[in-house]
Amino acid sequence: MTAIKFDTVVLGAGIVGVCVAVHLQQRDRQVALVDRKPPGNETSFGNAGLIQREGVYPYAFPRGLGALLRYARNQSLDVRYHADALFHAAPFLWRYWRNSDRAKHAEIARSYSTLIEHCVSEHRTLAAAAGASALLRPTGWIKVFRNNAAQDAELRLAEQWHREYGVEFESLDAARLQQAEPDLDKALRGGLRYTQADSVSDPNALVTAYAEYFESLGGRFFTGDANTLRNGWEVTTDAGTINASSVVVALGPWSGVLSSRLGYHLPLGVKRGYHMHYAPRGCAPQSSGARRRKGLSARADGARHPPDDRRRDCVARCAKNADATCRRRTDCTLALSTRQTPRRSTVDGRTALHAGHDARDRAR
Ligand SMILES: Cc1cc2nc3c(=O)[nH]c(=O)nc-3n(C[C@H](O)[C@H](O)[C@H](O)COP(=O)(O)OP(=O)(O)OC[C@H]3O[C@@H](n4cnc5c(N)ncnc54)[C@H](O)[C@@H]3O)c2cc1C
Repeated sequence: MTAIKFDTVVLGAGIVGVCVAVHLQQRDRQVALVDRKPPGNETSFGNAGLIQREGVYPYAFPRGLGALLRYARNQSLDVRYHADALFHAAPFLWRYWRNSDRAKHAEIARSYSTLIEHCVSEHRTLAAAAGASALLRPTGWIKVFRNNAAQDAELRLAEQWHREYGVEFESLDAARLQQAEPDLDKALRGGLRYTQADSVSDPNALVTAYAEYFESLGGRFFTGDANTLRNGWEVTTDAGTINASSVVVALGPWSGVLSSRLGYHLPLGVKRGYHMHYAPRGCAPQSSGARRRKGLSARADGARHPPDDRRRDCVARCAKNADATCRRRTDCTLALSTRQTPRRSTVDGRTALHAGHDARDRAR
């Protein structure tokens, strides 16, 4: 059987692959998008849906003694590690540590922020073209605090980001927070609203809308296994063999598997995140109910390692401030690059949501 010919094949139909595919198709490339699942059903399904305009600094390896001791005890909610994975993860963590040094982090932010500054405007443009603007809410997002020290620390950071990169924010005391979000726990001390961010009411629906837009431009989606990629380039799909002169690897946490087979050893680590959907009482932050996501556990083989039910239950217990009942529990993985430079457009399109920052936006 003869192969179906394209200019480019994009492997992986998460938010990154779909955005890259749309942009290439808009630029008159004939593009095939390949995934083993329908678009947006892995990491791009299980996220909090924040388009974090304020995320000008990628999340750094914590360097404060207090945080390190807390993580070393392996009891904290936001990060857990498997002791048996530390040996394999050590080189990755060492590079992550070195690149999180204050001066290097600031240098990285200077490049990274040039991508981040476009995240909201690019998504709004794409969503409008895809007829999906209703999925974006231009309300910013609020980080809430249970103690004053955590709020003061975040306020200092927000002031720094404002000075350096013009990030806008609004500080809320307990009364103003209650006024803005009457359904939140009354014990919260206050909040910080990042006003320039958008949030997505249903991240999977957004990826699906972008994928449909891609097809309306003439692009084609195929179900297939990226690991069948062979030189040339050729990929086997349910509809037959695809042939293209260029290939984009956008396999999220699975990217390392294929790229190392091709001889590229990217400094890519994988961590697992857990999230739950809650049936809302009061106001509903996401269309499918409130989402609570917390608890990243690092493993060298995180994408392959099965989820930990105890960890998931622990996250659920800690959702006590959400005025909601748990409706659905699932988990997902995301990739994190130790290099912490903006990822190349062949992997991460400019419009793509960025990985590796999500522990920063936890409620403290
Ligand atoms: C709990 C959690 C919350 C998050 N919250 C936010 C947030 O609020 N804001 C934000 O910006 N980011 C957030 N993130 C990060 C964000 O979700 C990811 O950066 C983003 O979804 C990554 O998209 P991706 O396309 O790279 O990967 P994915 O969405 O994982 O896409 C990879 C695709 O590759 C496919 N694939 C894998 N292997 C194969 C194969 N062999 N053959 C064919 N297809 C294959 C998969 O099926 C998948 O569709 C969060 C992440 C987590 C885990």
